[in-house]
Amino acid sequence: MAECTNCKEESTHVWKHRRPTETTTHRTVEWLCARCHPGMSDTLRNEGA
Ligand SMILES: [Zn+2]
Repeated sequence: MAECTNCKEESTHVWKHRRPTETTTHRTVEWLCARCHPGMSDTLRNEGA
């Protein structure tokens, strides 16, 4: 189990997502569940519950 960085809910699947920042000196990496990750919802649906 992993925790989604965005909604703080535990999920069986989370994906690394690099949030675009204005500065390159500080990079923000998030771990997002399917609901929060952009473009990932369609992929998860195929896996079933
Ligand atoms: Zn989430």
